[in-house]
Amino acid sequence: MREMILVRYGEIGLKGKNIRTFEKKLVSNIKKAVSHIPNITIIDRHGRVMVEYDPGMQEMVIESVKKVFGVVSLSPATQMDRDLENLKVQCLALITKLAEETGAKTFKVETRRADKNYPYTTPEINHAVGGYIFQNHGGLRVDVNRPDIMLTIEIRESAYVFSKRISGPGGMPYGSAGKGLLLLSGGIDSPVAGYLMAKRGLELEAIHFHSYPFTSERALDKVIELASRLTYYTGNLKIHNINILEIQKAINVNCPSEEMTILSRCFMMKIADRIAKQFYCKGLVTGENLGQVASQTIEGMTVTGSMTDLPVFRPLTAYDKNEIIEVAKRIETFETSILPFEDCCTVFLPDRVVTKPKLEKINASLALLDVEGLIDEAIKDKETIIIVGGEVVRRFKPNVE
Ligand code: ATP
Ligand code: MG
Repeated sequence: MREMILVRYGEIGLKGKNIRTFEKKLVSNIKKAVSHIPNITIIDRHGRVMVEYDPGMQEMVIESVKKVFGVVSLSPATQMDRDLENLKVQCLALITKLAEETGAKTFKVETRRADKNYPYTTPEINHAVGGYIFQNHGGLRVDVNRPDIMLTIEIRESAYVFSKRISGPGGMPYGSAGKGLLLLSGGIDSPVAGYLMAKRGLELEAIHFHSYPFTSERALDKVIELASRLTYYTGNLKIHNINILEIQKAINVNCPSEEMTILSRCFMMKIADRIAKQFYCKGLVTGENLGQVASQTIEGMTVTGSMTDLPVFRPLTAYDKNEIIEVAKRIETFETSILPFEDCCTVFLPDRVVTKPKLEKINASLALLDVEGLIDEAIKDKETIIIVGGEVVRRFKPNVE
């Protein structure tokens, strides 16, 4: 028998055809996540996925699979002959090894009968295997409340026996909800927003705005690093990298100075809207949060939201800053996010900013500019960066020969 892990998934409320779509996507994502490990077999059985691997590969398999969205938990398991007499003997051998490794003194056996045709009931199996271990091991006692080893037996076409449960991230398989465009800045919030939406099954593409040479190469490196970290969950990520310096200059010359920030945001949304439609993204994702900074008010979101007819997902609106930081630390983007490089030009930032912009007034200011022309120029100069598994694999300007 090969070594294996059992992978559990399940989103309450999934029904019928949806379950099959979910399962297929999950299996294909698990396949991708372990594709760097040789000689893997993935078995897709109703309600469970099993991943078989060669000796010595367990650690790598667990590390890879436990990051896959949709996975609730996983367990390294031993496949056994399900004949009760054989099962008793094999369970004793397994628990003896586990007790030696861990110094455990107590145990409990629990059983799940996934195959309802198995000729023994759950209590009968628990009793038979538990009794056999107790009589033949010598050192182990039964503790039904807080056992050192909880030996779980799952009865299927074979018996699968395990003692450890490792948590996965939960959520929905990546890509099962279509594709969205993440407005990725260099800050703490947007990578977290991207992660949370990816966890709900939204495939991501990213767009980043900068004001080079007013902003530095290092600010861009920071964004690439953040995107790379996201690829540990998403596999790969494309960044559309767009210079908005000329747009900021035009705003600075033609519009009220206190509207600089909100007008820049409007352009970001308009450009994101265009790129999203070109690349089949059905929604936008931002790291906006309610009340965190002056520009993040309901009025501000009304204005920026009206620049696109796509749905704008703002998963952080209900998060406290410390909750966002907690996720950022867990997904290992925090340390990069706090590096002190500005993503967009701060040269034009006024002392006073409008916190409750009015849409008519903002539209009137936009009317002072050649909005479409400025956007065309910015997009023409776009750079595309493709990241796979944490590495930049390609960087090019699609519109420049
Ligand atoms: P973050 O930590 O994500 O930068 P923030 O708290 O700094 O967010 P803002 O600067 O107001 O908030 O930005 C709000 C959102 O607008 C960001 O979360 C991001 O989605 C988008 N955004 C802002 N600046 C940029 C940028 N330079 N490129 C792409 N998206 C941006
Ligand atoms: Mg920011």
